[in-house]
Amino acid sequence: MTAPILRRLADLREMTARWRGQGQRVAVVPTMGALHAGHLSLVEVAKARADRVIVTIFVNPRQFDNADDLAKYPRTEQDDAAKLAPYAVDAIYAPDPDQVYPPGFATTVSVAGLTEGLCGAHRPGHFDGVTTVVAKLFAQTQADIACFGEKDFQQLAVVRRMARDLDIPVEIVGCPIVREGDGLALSSRNVRLSPAARAQAPVLYRALQQAAGAIGDGVPVAQALAAARDAVLAGGFASVDYIDLRAADSLVPLDVLDRPARLLAAAHLDGVRLIDNLGLAPA
Ligand code: AMP
Repeated sequence: MTAPILRRLADLREMTARWRGQGQRVAVVPTMGALHAGHLSLVEVAKARADRVIVTIFVNPRQFDNADDLAKYPRTEQDDAAKLAPYAVDAIYAPDPDQVYPPGFATTVSVAGLTEGLCGAHRPGHFDGVTTVVAKLFAQTQADIACFGEKDFQQLAVVRRMARDLDIPVEIVGCPIVREGDGLALSSRNVRLSPAARAQAPVLYRALQQAAGAIGDGVPVAQALAAARDAVLAGGFASVDYIDLRAADSLVPLDVLDRPARLLAAAHLDGVRLIDNLGLAPA
């Protein structure tokens, strides 16, 4: 069964009002489309936790800090609808741009602190674009639950903070990273890698795993991170934005593994920016 594709907020509201009138719980899975198994894992979680599931597809111009990246972002709506069919989601909300940003739109939702390092330091305005659109999607769908991937670990932390700070009555559910057989985290941007670059790409995850193992074995954090950076560059990546150990909740930098932590990385390969991360627990 193919879900209806809704373009207008009024149509979404009409549908969700009916559901709410029946006391049903609504989940939303926000995406930018070009769906893959990572997105579909979020849909499965949403289905298990709610009566109704809305998948949103909106390539949000405000979260792109690079015009070329926005222009090249894959747009595959018909394929996306076909991939969602087996999951029997209740609606695909693919709003017309003016439904998200009507003429005169003048509001930015901005989270301080958590957004300042990691991807925030390398992608000016990115998280403001994310929190602004996610706040809109929460208001438009009035979802009870929203599923986000740990693939974008900083984004997950930022969205949680925003929902808490603004008293948005939505439960944020974080879902594990889905990977290819060789370890590469699934991403809509992976299709832009040449075959040669695609073969090199798993070096990022392997470097994180090696660093995690080294830190667990007592190697000083700075040394393990430097080795990971060297391995990624030696493996064919053009540059590394960051490879860092952070506290899992606050994302403050750690130089000792003394609490639940996350190793996070962003690096450029073949003109594509790839991100990945890995959880670490103290001994
Ligand atoms: P995007 O379409 O890239 O904005 O991603 C939409 C949602 O899917 C975000 O919550 C992402 O974190 C999540 N996501 C993307 N890739 C993966 C993956 N490989 N595993 C799990 N979740 C993912």
